[in-house]
Amino acid sequence: MKKLGFGLMRLPLLDPRNPKSIDIDHFKKMVDVFMERGFTYFDTAYTYHQSKSEAAFRMAVQERYPRDRFTLTDKMPMWEVRQESDYERLFNVQLQRTGVEYFDYYWFHTLNKGYVDVLDRTNGWDFALRKQKEGRVRNIGFSFHDDSPTLERILKEHPEMEYVQLQINYVDWDSPSIESARCYELCEKYGRKVIVMEPVKGGSLAQIPSEVEAIFKEHSPEASPASWAIRFAASLPKVVMVLSGMSEISQVEDNTSFMADFQPLDDEEQLVLARAAGMIKNSIAIPCTSCHYCTDGCPMNIAIPEYFAIYNSLKQFGKSSAFNSRFYFNRISAYRGKPSDCIECGQCEEHCPQHLPIIDNLKLVSGEYEKN
Ligand code: SF4
Ligand code: SF4
Repeated sequence: MKKLGFGLMRLPLLDPRNPKSIDIDHFKKMVDVFMERGFTYFDTAYTYHQSKSEAAFRMAVQERYPRDRFTLTDKMPMWEVRQESDYERLFNVQLQRTGVEYFDYYWFHTLNKGYVDVLDRTNGWDFALRKQKEGRVRNIGFSFHDDSPTLERILKEHPEMEYVQLQINYVDWDSPSIESARCYELCEKYGRKVIVMEPVKGGSLAQIPSEVEAIFKEHSPEASPASWAIRFAASLPKVVMVLSGMSEISQVEDNTSFMADFQPLDDEEQLVLARAAGMIKNSIAIPCTSCHYCTDGCPMNIAIPEYFAIYNSLKQFGKSSAFNSRFYFNRISAYRGKPSDCIECGQCEEHCPQHLPIIDNLKLVSGEYEKN
């Protein structure tokens, strides 16, 4: 199987303000290009696009291609589990939404210490094994968002978990909070296969500062910034799949062009990337990946990742982006809570896989845009 997977969490929208308004016609065209070029792997989840991603998959893929032409991953939403019977109920909803009779891969979504306790208390591990025996799931694993000791505990205690989905990108590889390198090494040590999520860091490594892009262009004039990011992740030996959350057909065309006949980064390219990573680390003010895990439960409906993206752009591109930046801030704050509306309840920080100090960061954004 080719090493590029289609992540279904940032699909094209008819209304950019409404994550549920997936543009199915555009999505179908993207799927057709992806499939024509020999790629087959799709990654969805119960919660993506406010629970509309799985049905979009059914319309664009399951109803249009035979089952043996595609590979599907879905994920158990751990935050919805209160008792043992919830697993079966949620799983059946997912089968119905996607239209398939089995999942090729099935993960426990966003495992952390708290969700490991939930799995222990509600026999979740047994549920995964049972579904595998019933033939409803071919391979089992989990996506991971916590520290390396927690990962090691899971890998030791649960050898039945075959796959681990990790966030890996060339900027955060040695980050002490994300611990990508350490988590990858643990998967290597315990013989688990790795799937990579967020290789382009929520799209931010596709929109890099011009001086960093110039370094890439000097080496390979035709290669896009995203290609460097995806090839970095795919070059790691234990990585069997790299997900890209594509939003438009040009991204599908670009990603499939360099992943169709994938070549790992050579030594010279690794050096170029290390230099670029150093420059980018110095320029990203708030390392948010736009995953939106923080927003669902926000009582003030604050557009957290959107505000962080606007702020980052202002800090990266300076005065040249100030007008655009304020325009977007005003447009979003007209229908969503403002950064200063935050009541500091803290629920968003509990859900942030990047462990960002969201409340403090919102104060930075507020100070920039709301001071007058
Ligand atoms: S701390 Fe602020 S931003 Fe976070 S969920 Fe509460 S109100 Fe929303
Ligand atoms: S603040 Fe954290 S949870 Fe929210 S979108 Fe950014 S990375 Fe995701």
